Amino acid sequence: MYDVIVIGAGPAGMTAALYASRSNLSVLLIERGAPGGQMNNTAEIENYPGFDTIMGPELSMKMYEGATRFGAKNEYGIVQKVVDHDTYKEVVTEDKIYQGKSVIVATGCVHRKLGVPGEESFAGRGVSYCAVCDGAFFRNKKLLVIGGGDSAVEEAIYLTQFASEVMIVHRRDALRAQKVIQDRAFANDKITFMWDSVVEEIQGNEMVVTGAKIKNVKTGETHIEDCNGLFIYVGLEPLSEPVKALGITNEAGWILTDDQMRTTIPGIFAIGDGREKTLRQITTAVGEGGIAGQQVFQYLEEQKVVPQGE
Ligand code: FAD
Ligand code: NAP
Repeated sequence: MYDVIVIGAGPAGMTAALYASRSNLSVLLIERGAPGGQMNNTAEIENYPGFDTIMGPELSMKMYEGATRFGAKNEYGIVQKVVDHDTYKEVVTEDKIYQGKSVIVATGCVHRKLGVPGEESFAGRGVSYCAVCDGAFFRNKKLLVIGGGDSAVEEAIYLTQFASEVMIVHRRDALRAQKVIQDRAFANDKITFMWDSVVEEIQGNEMVVTGAKIKNVKTGETHIEDCNGLFIYVGLEPLSEPVKALGITNEAGWILTDDQMRTTIPGIFAIGDGREKTLRQITTAVGEGGIAGQQVFQYLEEQKVVPQGE
C-alpha cells in the first residue's frame, strides 16, 4: 500500500512525486512511456524559468532525476482504471493492481487527429505529430504544417532548419498562437501560409506522402498541394479514460478539480494538462504538481485523525 500513486510522468506528475516523496510519503509513479510526457516531443522550450532555452528531452531528464531523488519509485505500466474504495484506491494496469491511500492523476493529453483519409495509412510515412522526432527525415523537402496554435507555429519554425519550405495551412485567416511566436514565423523566409484552408485528404504512392487535397473554406475550391510530409497540430484531447467511470470528468473528458487539485472524490487529485483549465503549459503543470503533492500530505494527515468514539 503506497501513500500515493501518481499516474503519468509528465512535468505535473514528476513534480507531484518530488513534493510527496520529499514529505516522506511512499510514492509510486506509473508511466506508460518515457518520463517527460509532451516535453519529449518539444524541441526548444524558452518559457521555462531558469533556462534561456532548453531542449524538451533534456528538461524531461532533469525533472525525472528530481522526481526520484527522494525515494519515489517509478514503474512502467499502462493504467486502465482507478477504483475508489473510500479509504484506499486501486490502480489497475494491464497486468497488475496497485493499492494506494491516495491517487494523483497526471495523464495529460494526446494530440488530436485530423480524421481525414490517408492520415492513418501514411502515419510514419510522411504524416507526423512530432517535429522533434521526425523533422530530420525531411531535409530539403517541402512540408505542410496543419493548425494555427502555439504548437503548429512553433514547430513549423523548428522544421525550417531541415525543410526547404514549410507551409502552414490554417482554417482561418488569423493565427491562435502567441504573438511572439507569430512574429517569428512571419519573419521566417522559409514559412508560407495558406489561410482559410483545410486538408480533405492526404495522398501518396505506396511508400510516401506526395501531396494533400486542400479546400478553401471561403470559396469551396479544392486543389492538390504537393508536399513530402505533413505535421499535424490541431489541438489536444485529454487522456482521462482510466477515471471516466468515477464521474470526475466533464462531457469532453477534461478532469474537474478545485484550486487545490482535489476532485470530488476524497483522496483522488488531478493535475496538469488533463484538467479543465485555460493555460496548458509546463509551468502550470509543475505548479499544480507542487500543490497536489502538498495536498496529499494534508489529506493523509487528516485520515490519521481517529474520530471520537471509535
Ligand atoms: P503530459 O506532458 O501530457 O504528460 C502526461 C504523461 O502521462 C505522459 O508521459 C503519458 O505517457 C502518461 N500517461 C497518460 N496516460 C497514461 C496511462 N493510462 N497510464 C500511464 N501513463 C499515462 N509548454 C510550455 O510551457 N512551453 C513550450 O515551449 C511548450 N511547447 C510545446 C510543444 C508541443 C509540440 C506540445 C504538444 C506541447 C508544448 N507545451 C509547451 C505544452 C506542455 O508540454 C504541456 O503543457 C505539459 O507537458 C503538460 O504536462 P502534464 O504533465 O500535465 O502532461
Ligand atoms: P490549440 O491551441 O488548441 O490549437 C489548435 C489549432 O488547430 C487551432 O489553431 C485550431 O484552429 C486548429 N484546429 C483544430 N481543429 C482543427 C481541424 N479539425 N482542422 C484544422 N485545424 C484545426 O492546440 P496546440 O497548439 O497544440 O496547443 C495546446 C496547448 O499547449 C495550448 O494551451 C498551448 O498554449 C500550449 N503550448 C504552448 C507552447 C508554448 O508556450 N511555447 C507551445 C505549444 C503548445 P482555430 O484557431 O480556428 O481554433
